[in-house]
Amino acid sequence: WAKADGKRRWAMFDPDRNATEVARLRLSAQLPAALERGEFYVDYQPLVGMRRNDVVGVEALVRWAHPELGRLGPDRFIGLAEETGLIVPLGRWVLRQACLQGRRWARELGADAPFVSVNLAVRQSRDPNLVSDVAAILDETGLDPAKLQLELTESAIMGTADEPLESLRELSRMGVRIAIDDFGTGYSNLAYLRHLPVHELKIAGSFVEGLREADREDPVDARIVRTLVDLAHALGLTVTAEGVETRAQARRIAETGCETAQGYLFARPGPPEAVHELIIGGVPG
Ligand code: C2E
Ligand code: MG
Ligand code: MG
Ligand code: MG
Repeated sequence: WAKADGKRRWAMFDPDRNATEVARLRLSAQLPAALERGEFYVDYQPLVGMRRNDVVGVEALVRWAHPELGRLGPDRFIGLAEETGLIVPLGRWVLRQACLQGRRWARELGADAPFVSVNLAVRQSRDPNLVSDVAAILDETGLDPAKLQLELTESAIMGTADEPLESLRELSRMGVRIAIDDFGTGYSNLAYLRHLPVHELKIAGSFVEGLREADREDPVDARIVRTLVDLAHALGLTVTAEGVETRAQARRIAETGCETAQGYLFARPGPPEAVHELIIGGVPG
């Protein structure tokens, strides 16, 4: 009845917005049962080394096989899960799946196995159990900590609280790699960045988009990408370019000295078997 009450209130000023709100609330309420019923799954997208065109890492990207709405991407439900706090158990579930998969690749491929890269929401980065959860999952799955990378956004890292920083330092000491995701879209304190336990910057796809053949290129985007890569290298970090869709972009990215690239040019996110084939058979593009 709370919903009906809300419906009447919202409908008075904006029926469209009301429908969207109700859909959001419904999805949000369905999240816990969905996790219990096993409706989530993880797709994997290769991170490709520019030098040898090999799969050096693999990003885990969560999806929801919704019984009525079909496949839903993370943009539809991660925000809701953050609001309700369900992101903590959901994120732990994704981490465990990714570590299990990483361990499988390690068994099949030995030293050539890619690391798995897992996104951490802001709320997870502030969770006091983060370090012990990661340690327990590494222990249980037997994945080498060096084969795990955690991706955090600038806002997760640059927050005022010291807690996430201490957790990151601890994780880094354990041998886990830390990456800053979507770099360039948030507010980074550059002086601060220097002292963070971070190994890699991932340059947001929105900057890569403007890279084209020299004459058709967006000169500002091109300069931003070059500057971000130089900044990362000055800080002793490696760089991944996100959202690489064309050969021209891959070429321009490689010219800047960027170590790794990710994007539809090489592979779309997909099941682990598809990644395995790319590791064995080589990466196109
Ligand atoms: P992200 O971490 O920046 O992941 C990259 C996103 O870019 C993915 O979208 C991927 O499918 C997409 N992408 C990859 N290559 C290309 C390309 O060439 N062109 C374009 N246009 N897009 C490309 P996806 O899977 O929809 O994920 C969206 C976001 O949801 C992720 O952005 C990440 O922030 C979040 N996310 C995904 N899985 C998780 C998770 O397990 N936990 C948390 N907290 N967030 C997640
Ligand atoms: Mg990411
Ligand atoms: Mg990203
Ligand atoms: Mg993102």
